[in-house]
Amino acid sequence: MPSDAEATHLPSKVILEPADQALVDGVLKRQPRALAKTITLIESTRSDHRRRAAGVLDALLPHTGDSIRLGISGSPGAGKSTFIEALGLELIRRGHRVAVLAIDPSSTITGGSILGDKTRMEHLSVNPDAFIRPSPSRGSLGGVADKTREAMLVCEAAGFDVILVETVGVGQSETTVAGMVDAFVLVQLPNAGDDLQAIKKGIVEIADVIVVNKADIDPDAAELARRQLAGALSLLRHPSPNWKPVVVALSAAKNQGIDKFWAEIERLRKALGESGELDEKRRRQAVDWMWSLIDQGLRTRFRENPKVRSELEPTSRSVAEGRTTAAAAAYRLLDFVEAAND
Ligand code: GDP
Repeated sequence: MPSDAEATHLPSKVILEPADQALVDGVLKRQPRALAKTITLIESTRSDHRRRAAGVLDALLPHTGDSIRLGISGSPGAGKSTFIEALGLELIRRGHRVAVLAIDPSSTITGGSILGDKTRMEHLSVNPDAFIRPSPSRGSLGGVADKTREAMLVCEAAGFDVILVETVGVGQSETTVAGMVDAFVLVQLPNAGDDLQAIKKGIVEIADVIVVNKADIDPDAAELARRQLAGALSLLRHPSPNWKPVVVALSAAKNQGIDKFWAEIERLRKALGESGELDEKRRRQAVDWMWSLIDQGLRTRFRENPKVRSELEPTSRSVAEGRTTAAAAAYRLLDFVEAAND
């Protein structure tokens, strides 16, 4: 019988299989192969792999958290990969190690991917101080995001101190990414159409830094766009009490203004760190993540229940044809899962 004190704690750490311990050791020794293999294990949907991955992550967890986590979003063509390449190379020159992870909502639908293509970021992808991982190409957006969260922790344990999570500006992916990073960056083109799109979709509200890219093409237009966006931002309520969002005009292709951008990120990091907001934010994100995993776990258990599997089709048909109400059908199916737990 565990004592009361013990009973309130989580079960003690599992002993890892030698192969998994080797992955943990390899990641901590910053071996690229171990890092890639661990992320492959994490991305696997097999339930035995899921359990192994959870054990590996548990062992790595004490070595995580020591990084700057940035989300980077923008419409296709805004210049995200050009920007990430320029930023990544600059940060490596300054002694950082940079991991780029992608969440691509298109990959979850088509299996194809707008992001994460290896030919993008051609210099960064061959740099030993960079690690680039395309979006997992299967599963729901939530599932893909959870794998990316886990990959982020593995990268931190492997000594990457800047994590860039890239996503493309469609659907829910921006809010999903904003929910796992310290700061969210929106890359915009210097034209009003792009601004309006983002304002309409509510993305500007969650941006901590907006980049007006391609300022080299027409510096005056870029400056105008910068001022207009800054004006729009000043009217919106930003979720952070310790940070006023800023707009930076730069040219990723010409490598101009990257230092100005990074100075803002360092200022932001300091403001959130000193006020305690960063810790609070990460704590909240971890609990939200737990709930996301619980939701998905329940869904999986539901779908894998043998009774549900045989009854789901006819019951759905019955609801579609108006012979059963949605409520009655849902409760009947959920009861199968409950019965399995008795
Ligand atoms: P992504 O789809 O958002 O990742 O955009 P890319 O980084 O692939 O860039 C789209 C196109 O814009 C490419 O042809 C880039 O060379 C170009 N581009 C990106 N940044 C700049 C920039 O700062 N100035 C100019 N003139 N072109 C750029």
